[in-house]
Amino acid sequence: MTNQKKILVTGAGGFIGHHLCKHLKGRGYWIRGVDIKYPEFESTMADDFRLMDLREFSHCLESCSGMDEVYQLAADMGGIGYITSYHAAILRNNALINLHMLEAARKNNIKKYLYTSSACVYPQHLQDKPDIAPLKEEDAYPADAEPGYGWEKLFAELACQYYMEDFGMKTYSVRFHNIFGPLGTYDGGKEKSPAAVCRKIALAEQKDEIEIWGDGKQTRSYCYISDCVEGIFRLMQSDYHMPINLGQDRMITINELVDMVAKIAGKKIRKKYDLSKPQGVRGRNSDNNMLRKVLNWEPLVSLEEGLGITYKWIHEQITRNKKAVVSGKSG
Ligand code: NAD
Repeated sequence: MTNQKKILVTGAGGFIGHHLCKHLKGRGYWIRGVDIKYPEFESTMADDFRLMDLREFSHCLESCSGMDEVYQLAADMGGIGYITSYHAAILRNNALINLHMLEAARKNNIKKYLYTSSACVYPQHLQDKPDIAPLKEEDAYPADAEPGYGWEKLFAELACQYYMEDFGMKTYSVRFHNIFGPLGTYDGGKEKSPAAVCRKIALAEQKDEIEIWGDGKQTRSYCYISDCVEGIFRLMQSDYHMPINLGQDRMITINELVDMVAKIAGKKIRKKYDLSKPQGVRGRNSDNNMLRKVLNWEPLVSLEEGLGITYKWIHEQITRNKKAVVSGKSG
């Protein structure tokens, strides 16, 4: 037990952080999880879970103390409605977390540090039509990132690079492309498109109409959560320290996503388009050439399989909540 590696997962109360704690626990590591909240839908698997605000440097120092490696997933983030509404708060919160975490990791002699970046770093003009070319890592520059959230991600990627160059701390930056799966937020405004579509269809009756943000022709690729945590772990075992995409490279329209979930649910659904709602970039897909080269691996779970599991879980949550309300067990 004395040689057991100790790993800090920040954002461990969040969607990917919680799944990552489970994954790393399964590999036999000792885990400390830190977040401002506990995981919403399941108890944490972390050996030590601390509620702390990582915008505070003292909390970052305490979190990193005694750890060997850090997986930094804490961030103020949400779906497109959220990140387009709070540019200043998101940029400030995330910049504070990332600068303080890097410095705290350096002071604690952390051996490896993983930073979770995003496809939102890519220039908007490369994503202005539905059938765009997949985004390669080098496309991020000259930069024209998503306002607020995306610019901060680029800045934090650079901070990781500089800490490696100047201090020799091994840093890794991974750019996620729409990660989805069970145990993720599915309502309240912070949910992403797969969860929102699953929720709307789970709540709909046969032949009901559901609201789609935009005209439904915008495109995205989606990556299932088990592939995401496997990819993160594999990257941390590699010697690759430049930003790298982690996602699927199968691009579909939102309309196709809705049809897929409706088929899984066995429901006929009509679509009502709301063009006043934010829809983000027009098209986005991941170029996985670098991922394949570096990791000799790429995400494996099909969209149909991942959505099937996710829909089932969201449907169960909604059914349980309805029953609780009917029997007076929930406000
Ligand atoms: P999430 O919102 O579920 O998890 C982030 C967690 O960070 C939350 O639990 C939140 O409470 C915590 N947090 C926020 N502010 C904090 C603070 N001041 N101190 C401590 N904890 C704080 O999001 P997620 O989907 O699990 O994302 C994890 C990481 O991956 C984030 O860096 C996010 O930007 C990045 N990312 C995710 C996706 C995706 O599709 N889910 C895509 C691109 C990038």
